[in-house]
Amino acid sequence: MTDFMATGMLPDHYEQLAKTVRDFAQSVVAPVAAKHDEEHSFPYEVVAGMADMGLFGLPFPEEYGGMGGDYFALCLALEELGKVDQSVAITLEAGVSLGAMPVYRFGNEEQKQEWLPLLASGKALGAFGLTEAGGGSDAGATKTTARLDDGHWVINGSKQFITNSGTDITKLVTVTAVTGEVGGKKEISSILVPVPTEGFTAEPAYNKVGWNASDTHPLSFDDVRVPEENLLGERGRGYANFLRILDEGRIAIAALSVGAAQGCVDESVKYAKEREAFGAAIGSYQAVAFKIARMEARAHVARTAYYDAAALMLAGKPFKKAASIAKMVASEAAMDNARDATQIFGGYGFMNEYSVARHYRDSKILEIGEGTTEVQLMLIGRELGL
Ligand SMILES: Cc1cc2nc3c(=O)[nH]c(=O)nc-3n(C[C@H](O)[C@H](O)[C@H](O)COP(=O)(O)OP(=O)(O)OC[C@H]3O[C@@H](n4cnc5c(N)ncnc54)[C@H](O)[C@@H]3O)c2cc1C
Repeated sequence: MTDFMATGMLPDHYEQLAKTVRDFAQSVVAPVAAKHDEEHSFPYEVVAGMADMGLFGLPFPEEYGGMGGDYFALCLALEELGKVDQSVAITLEAGVSLGAMPVYRFGNEEQKQEWLPLLASGKALGAFGLTEAGGGSDAGATKTTARLDDGHWVINGSKQFITNSGTDITKLVTVTAVTGEVGGKKEISSILVPVPTEGFTAEPAYNKVGWNASDTHPLSFDDVRVPEENLLGERGRGYANFLRILDEGRIAIAALSVGAAQGCVDESVKYAKEREAFGAAIGSYQAVAFKIARMEARAHVARTAYYDAAALMLAGKPFKKAASIAKMVASEAAMDNARDATQIFGGYGFMNEYSVARHYRDSKILEIGEGTTEVQLMLIGRELGL
């Protein structure tokens, strides 16, 4: 895995996967991206296409219906999709790394057998319910509760900003909830909530600045009863387990961000060669060429950062700091490149039908979701012993 990092060359099987997803992104995703963005509609037909390609099962073993690949393969797919449409890319990211991965990492055999083949097939989506109104960065501030009653967990509370939680194919929401108190501290556990379950409601979708074709809802839990066996992982380990999922998820978000950053470069190069002003292509002016060169450098450095974090993770080495660095630099590269690309496109860059305008609106959330930039700095500082 680490060999190609010195040469910048991917082994064949990774290269093949990236090419297949790149072709799919160009031929299937790109033609409908602006329409779904404008209509704020969930791209069911695109998701079905990704499901047919096995993308939702990429990092899972074949015995659970997966493709037998690894997390880096997922990242490559996210990068390719992210170049063209971040909404589609985040749907895959959240479906795999937040929806299915907690079951794979922390589920018992029965839970894995029940959920993974379904989620890996992409015919159903899982969601990850951590954030609440009073606790995003401070996710331990969870107020949602779950109490045991006659062999069932009874869940009450609400979650906020949950991706993939209200589509027609959403079948599972995994939530963190306070299940008691140990040594004066909250005991937080994670619990599997099949959809539908009485008392569970995905409230109307948010009206967002970007990621308009991605599905995001507030969730409410009103005496939701699920069997005691739906506890995921050890009781009291829910918060810690979710944090581990977020460590990995940051590499995936970094890959998606690199896609966005690179997509902006590619669009800008094309446009700068075609668009003329003062009798010459704008790309012939150094002010424009330098801007694009800097964009390319940002995308390249960010890609190196996520490859590095993924290589550490796959080698079983500590990767927390590398994942936070990758997430931070890649999300900033996406935002900076989206701003520069919009500038290069001039007035057209402010028109929604242009993909750089979509990247401009979509990229901001990359600096916020799965841990804000400030949270990444906090984590990097902690890893340095500060
Ligand atoms: C479109 C979208 C999709 C999402 N999907 C999911 C999902 O699927 N599942 C899920 O659980 N969550 C999801 N989230 C939630 C997301 O992870 C949180 O919004 C994010 O972690 C920030 O939390 P917050 O919104 O509560 O902001 P806050 O935590 O309130 O932060 C506000 C500001 O304060 C800063 N800040 C907070 N604490 C500190 C500190 N100690 N030092 C310095 N600065 C600080 C933050 O960096 C930020 O700038 C999603 C959010 C969005 C918008």
